[in-house]
Amino acid sequence: MKIGFIGLGHMGGPMAANLVKAGHVVKGFDLAQPLLDEASSKGVTACASLAEAVASVDTVITMLPAGRHVLAVWQALVATVPSGTLLIDCSTIDIDSARKAHEMAAEKGCASLDAPVSGGTGGAAAGTLTFMIGGEQDVFSKSQPIFEAMGKRIIHCGGASAGQAAKICNNMILGVSMIAVGEAFVLGEKLGLSHQALFDVASVSSGQCWSLTTYCPVPGPVPTSPANNDYEPGFAGALMLKDLKLSQEAAQSAGATTPLGAKAAELFALFNELGNADKDFSGIIDMLRQQSGGTA
Ligand code: NAD
Repeated sequence: MKIGFIGLGHMGGPMAANLVKAGHVVKGFDLAQPLLDEASSKGVTACASLAEAVASVDTVITMLPAGRHVLAVWQALVATVPSGTLLIDCSTIDIDSARKAHEMAAEKGCASLDAPVSGGTGGAAAGTLTFMIGGEQDVFSKSQPIFEAMGKRIIHCGGASAGQAAKICNNMILGVSMIAVGEAFVLGEKLGLSHQALFDVASVSSGQCWSLTTYCPVPGPVPTSPANNDYEPGFAGALMLKDLKLSQEAAQSAGATTPLGAKAAELFALFNELGNADKDFSGIIDMLRQQSGGTA
């Protein structure tokens, strides 16, 4: 396929490179010249403008920071591409913007999908991302080869914006569960319980969860977790806060009560304010420990 790829940052750069590896012809555009040069070294045709990147392509993929960037770029896209072009947004954005983007595409006669990802920069580079997809079933089915080039698990979640809904609900679970696991370790420390003992029990008991068994926030029990590497991300505190804020915006506009999600957003806002935006989000355990009168 011929694909235009807009946004060649931490995630978009390696995703575009994997599309090239799978045999697609990819033209890329980003505002940052060094990212264009990097993409070019991976076989992406670097373009000087959005219009150039989307000329004569079947599909356009966007991977941008937030809803406002996506809407600005999609506005330019629908003014540029012919009807019938498939538009896919892989960014993590608010539900209202995702719906607007689908509407803009439909007005132009373009099929569209929201397709946010999980798996981080490691998954983007390895081509093992999970895609959560919203949009029409037949559009989803036809676009499988595109997603297979970049990811391992590709899940159709429902109609327009269902992918974004799944993403923010999942990450709300993640934010809350990481705080719960951190609190349990801090309490265990106060009670004289070793990290390993708590891990051995909770990892095979009803406290078991991903935040404990894959991403344990204390060093030792899970050697690959960021806790063993001074909380180098991984998944940065700033991104966790972004996703929790999106979950709270969605909860407010949909009338859902999410008290733990709200508290998690508040705690991660404080974590970021304390200078941890670039640290892995699991480092929030240090803040919880300090709040309990312990040392980080
Ligand atoms: P990034 O900031 O590294 O990349 C975004 C890129 O978009 C930048 O290079 C920027 O120059 C470019 N851009 C902005 N406006 C543009 C425009 N008008 N035209 C062309 N390019 C433009 O961000 P990222 O880490 O790649 O994340 C992208 C999206 O993926 C975000 O929505 C993020 O929440 C989501 N996400 C990130 C991760 C992660 O671990 N980094 C994981 C899952 C999801």
